[in-house]
Amino acid sequence: MASITLEQVNKVYPGGYHAIKDLNLEIADGELMVLVGPSGCGKTTTLRMVAGLEEVTSGTLRIGDRVVNGLEPKERDIAMVFQNYALYPHMSVAENIGFALRLQNLPKSTIAQRVHDASEILGITDILNKKPRQLSGGQRQRVAMGRAIVREPSIFLMDEPLSNLDAKLRVKMRAEVKLIQERLGVATIYVTHDQMEAMTLGDRVAVLRNGELLQCTTPHDLYFNPVDTFVATFIGSPAMNLLEAVVDRTSASLVVGSQKIALSDETAKRLAGATHVTLGIRPEHFFLEDVPNSAGLVAEVKLVEELGYEQMVHFDLDAKIVRGHGESEDATNDIYGGRTARIAGSGELKQRDRVTLHF
Ligand code: ATP
Repeated sequence: MASITLEQVNKVYPGGYHAIKDLNLEIADGELMVLVGPSGCGKTTTLRMVAGLEEVTSGTLRIGDRVVNGLEPKERDIAMVFQNYALYPHMSVAENIGFALRLQNLPKSTIAQRVHDASEILGITDILNKKPRQLSGGQRQRVAMGRAIVREPSIFLMDEPLSNLDAKLRVKMRAEVKLIQERLGVATIYVTHDQMEAMTLGDRVAVLRNGELLQCTTPHDLYFNPVDTFVATFIGSPAMNLLEAVVDRTSASLVVGSQKIALSDETAKRLAGATHVTLGIRPEHFFLEDVPNSAGLVAEVKLVEELGYEQMVHFDLDAKIVRGHGESEDATNDIYGGRTARIAGSGELKQRDRVTLHF
């Protein structure tokens, strides 16, 4: 087992494209680090450099204490799980899982034991004699994981391993990957473009954009203390609402479009010196009142989406759409820990209702 360290790592592809810029990242022994970001931000490039499938243009890459820049993939003691995990169709599940060990000429009894141990961890002991074509998508995914686990590598690298699965199975497998990784306690880098997957899986999450690391921290910290508006809107679904506002010191208020809201003393102090600010309000942080009044922002209901346990409400705020949660009639606040914004007063929200948004 080992940690993974990237120091000032750069990748410039032949042709001159600078895909990774001065990347510093440390993944502790046993940690699950998720790399997330929009398409083309450099997630896969980073993973492939760690794997040894792509050369590092400059900087230092360490696995444990060893600098691995010049080492072949097979000398790095890693195991990878890809999106397109190809199983050998003519081999049974057990043979697929044990394949890498047979290449190492390990004794048959050792191979059998390791295949058995891996399949126990993955809960697939009952399908060891089946062929890949007889398996479901989730089972195939587990076999692909088995091939990685059985090698007992010092680090795991996973590149969108769940993206071929349907939405329901993805959520189930996501939890399984997390439990298996915790049980094995091996440093893991997991690449995804799905912020929800990143948040639920990662001990820490590294957000990349245009080859640069924007922020690397715990999911909780990322959500509540995003470093900029890109991270703020990338993490969380639906996205955080961003509203431009002007600070009006004479009336101690914020001007948002054509509306004014009073500033508390504390907020006025925090905004000392600022003239223009961006308000970032997550949908669940709006509190709604079903009568328009000047203590908040008056908006019109554009659309109410019923999600069962709650509603997603789209409001028109001076021609800008903002989103908030409404509480469905049967939802109890106990279940959602009071997190869901409440609609104060009575009555259901309907299109064209005018309400006040507090935050
Ligand atoms: P996705 O989520 O779409 O897989 P990603 O974040 O994994 O994206 P990478 O595959 O790492 O992104 O690519 C990063 C950037 O480097 C992209 O702009 C891509 O076009 C470029 N790139 C990738 N491979 C090469 C290559 N072999 N030659 C030149 N440019 C490349």
